[in-house]
Amino acid sequence: MSAGTSPPSSLPHIAVVGGGIAGLVAAWDLARAGCAVEIFEAGDRLGGAIGAQTLAGDAYDAGAEAFATRSPVVPRLLAELGLQDDVVAPQHSIAWLQLPDLAAPLPATGILGIPADPLAPDVVAILGETAAARAAEDLNTPVQDWAEEQESRGGRITLGEVVRDRMGQQVLDRLVTPIVSGVHSAEPDDLDMNNAAPGLFDAMLREGSLARAVALVRSKAPAGSAVNSVDGGLNRLVHALERELLRLGATIRLNSPVHDLAELVAPGAERPDHVILALDAPAAVQLISEVMDLSGLDLTGLDLSGLDLSGQDPAPGVALVSMILHAPELDSHPRGTGVLVSPQVRDIGAKAMTHISSKWEWAEAAVTQAHGPGHHVVRLSYGRVGQTSQPRLGADSSDEDLLRAAAEDVGALFGVPIAGEQILEASVVRWRRALPQTSAGHAERIAALRARLAGQDHGPQTPRVHMTGAWFAGTGLARVVPDARSTAAAILNTDPEPEPEPDPPTLTARP
Ligand SMILES: Cc1cc2nc3c(=O)[nH]c(=O)nc-3n(C[C@H](O)[C@H](O)[C@H](O)COP(=O)(O)OP(=O)(O)OC[C@H]3O[C@@H](n4cnc5c(N)ncnc54)[C@H](O)[C@@H]3O)c2cc1C
Repeated sequence: MSAGTSPPSSLPHIAVVGGGIAGLVAAWDLARAGCAVEIFEAGDRLGGAIGAQTLAGDAYDAGAEAFATRSPVVPRLLAELGLQDDVVAPQHSIAWLQLPDLAAPLPATGILGIPADPLAPDVVAILGETAAARAAEDLNTPVQDWAEEQESRGGRITLGEVVRDRMGQQVLDRLVTPIVSGVHSAEPDDLDMNNAAPGLFDAMLREGSLARAVALVRSKAPAGSAVNSVDGGLNRLVHALERELLRLGATIRLNSPVHDLAELVAPGAERPDHVILALDAPAAVQLISEVMDLSGLDLTGLDLSGLDLSGQDPAPGVALVSMILHAPELDSHPRGTGVLVSPQVRDIGAKAMTHISSKWEWAEAAVTQAHGPGHHVVRLSYGRVGQTSQPRLGADSSDEDLLRAAAEDVGALFGVPIAGEQILEASVVRWRRALPQTSAGHAERIAALRARLAGQDHGPQTPRVHMTGAWFAGTGLARVVPDARSTAAAILNTDPEPEPEPDPPTLTARP
């Protein structure tokens, strides 16, 4: 796929490896500035973790389906692409939590399940009075120990440690873990505090309380929905970028995995001045290790060569089962936008379920128009990290096992029986290495890797290499898009976009 206006020769020639949203956004900014851009994508389509699937004749998002509104960068990108009038908010703002003994709406005020008010009735309903009182001790317990400990530990602090210490194990088990494991595919004890909730730890040190820090961060959030999407599906963003890139003369090479940076210099072709690796970090590290000395860097979680020894994949995959149901009893949207499932629930394999046609009006209209009233689209997510009760279901499970589990789980999660014949169609989509795990110290490891790259002596004949994408910037469009734009701006030697407001974490988890 290519088209052709020639860019001015003074502008650099760029090779972008990876056609996910990070690669596409960086490529678009560079192509708009007149650079010659060539995108190498391993798969047979662009978009990476943003894509579409067809279910009973209609297209729905197959991966990412919303963007956080906490930062203006994604709305601005959509506006630049002419999609501003197509931005939509969810129909409901409430998601539910499934615990072993209870299904309840998620508390209204929280960040990653950490309550801003531990004694609020919706928090007490989930924690019980004793655990809520323990959580409220945070308000009166000095944070001095944490400040000193942070000094001595170089910032390597996990979300689990902070929540357990400040608010107690029950807040971790009953609020934070279901959200973090459902949304981020990670255990709080494995998540770098500063990566999971940027700015929250520092706010806690300043405010003297974790709950007050949560309240402060939330008070700075823009009004309205915490997430939005695009009418018809977020995948339209990818199509818009692809159209723009082709219009500007960029070359898009699908089915073109890059295994060696030397491959980018095809015989007779112009050598790129810059290479942007918009890949998962293990793939990027492997590629640059051939051209750059990485000795002395801590590559934990970034270098899969040690995987066999540690046995820990830093990004276990996720499997999504989407289905169309005929179930008029769901017309009242009994679980709001969906349910996050605590890992302590023994008899449900899914870690989350999104009621797609309840969440998005366009999806409700599409399924009703295609199949009639009483029809619904739901999506169940499998692939928990850590221990689970039953045979672990995830990206490596068979379609048969996933579909069987989903047929059972859907009724359990809605709290209504759903018979097999009510499921009109179901499909499985797998995502591998698409949700990076960011263990404590991840941010520092990435910063060191980037500093090594920035200091590279690339010489006149060697392209300068850059890295961007979710593994470097953090998961989610609100982090990936500004990082990709900064990468492009650095290449163009312009100032990077002013950072949006310090990147607060997703305010409320929504399946
Ligand atoms: C199921 C799921 C749901 C999600 N939901 C949301 C959501 O609702 N909201 C949100 O903000 N975020 C969500 N995310 C996260 C978000 O989608 C990602 O953070 C973001 O899309 C990552 O973009 P990326 O370009 O960094 O990486 P990717 O999308 O992973 O793109 C990397 C690309 O590089 C290609 N590639 C890999 N190796 C090579 C190679 N050697 N040569 C050439 N190409 C290569 C891959 O094929 C891929 O296309 C979700 C993720 C998943 C998996």
